[in-house]
Order: sequence, then C-alpha cells, then structure tokens
Amino acid sequence: MIKESLLKPADVAYQETVLAGDYWMKVVKAGQTIRIVDSEGNQAADTLFYSAANPAERYSAVDTIREQGNVYLTTGTTLMTNEGNPMLEIVADTCGRHDTLGGACATESNQVRYDLGKKHMHACRDSWLLAVTENPEFGMSKRDITHNINFFMNVPITADGGLSFADGISAPGKYVELKARMDVIVLISNCPQLNNPCNAYNPTPVDVLVWN
Ligand SMILES: [Zn+2]
Repeated sequence: MIKESLLKPADVAYQETVLAGDYWMKVVKAGQTIRIVDSEGNQAADTLFYSAANPAERYSAVDTIREQGNVYLTTGTTLMTNEGNPMLEIVADTCGRHDTLGGACATESNQVRYDLGKKHMHACRDSWLLAVTENPEFGMSKRDITHNINFFMNVPITADGGLSFADGISAPGKYVELKARMDVIVLISNCPQLNNPCNAYNPTPVDVLVWN
C-alpha cells in the first residue's frame, strides 16, 4: 500500500549515501525510523536485520509472511524475528511492493543463472560477508547470513507457484520507511548486480536516513 511519510528531511538525525556494491551496517534504536531511498530507481537494497541485544534473534521471512498472511511486504507489514517478536514496522512506502522470497545474489547463483564467467563478479552475499568481517564488534560471521528483504525488488509469484524476476516497479526517489520496535542491527547490501535486467544493468546509489 502506498503511503507517504510525514517525517521532514530537515529533522533527520543521520543521512548517508550508499553506492552500489557497498554495504551499510549500523544500529537503529527502538523508536527511531529508518528510510531507504531508491535514489535513481529500480535498485535493490538487500537487507538483513538482527536484534542488537542478541544477534541470534534476527529477521525471519517465514514468521513475517505467516503472521501477515501475505508474501509481499509494504506499509503495515511488521517484520518478525525468528523468536516471534516484532522487530520493525513498515510505516511508509512509496514503492508499494518489496520481496522477501528471492534471496540475495551470490557468485554461485550468478554463475548458474547467467554465465560461468560471472563467477567472480561482486554479489550481495560478498558485501554481507565483508560487513560482518569488517565490523567484529557485532560478533557475527558467515553463519549469521540468513533471510533477507530485497527492498524495491519486484518478484511476482506465478500462478503455478514459481518465482519470476520482473522489471522493477520502483522509480527515482521512491522510498520505504521502517520504525524500529527494538534496537536493530541493519545490514544493507546495495546490490552490485550487473546481470539482471531489472535495473537496466545500471546499479545506482541508495540513500539511508534515520530520524529519532
Ligand atoms: Zn544483489
């Protein structure tokens, strides 16, 4: 559901531009609101969420889908943890649909889906692994890379139950906004994907804004 935010850019507490192929890993405190902006359109922000108090408690696609009875995420969706606790709520969304079934790009899937020669191209899973390695204070490793959300990605389910990677429905400046219900480690990989036509083979920056 399309819903615009009432938050004002002038009141923002934090703002950063994340280039395609880079990651962003920070704690968003309970009560804060994070906005991810698809600055130039049809980008994918592959995002993981963990409880800052205990990173073993983390975003669960399965629990989120079951609780809301819908496979697509948008305004009103409460992101649930693997322990059944509400983690964040999507409070504004000008894109209208986000995927949590397709998973993130990886060197292995790029190789299978596109070409053997794509094996060594940078993928979102590489960015996540780099993030947990470069930020040891969170105490995470490869084994903590789990379910993610692909913000701004359009992955419709076909009539026979398959997944299709469709052209994006996002556009320049569209955003999604989430209000934290607990202290959350947010790990965004701004997708470096050069093989999927959904971004017109042109990965672009996303902006991250946080309000207190
Ligand atoms: Zn990716």
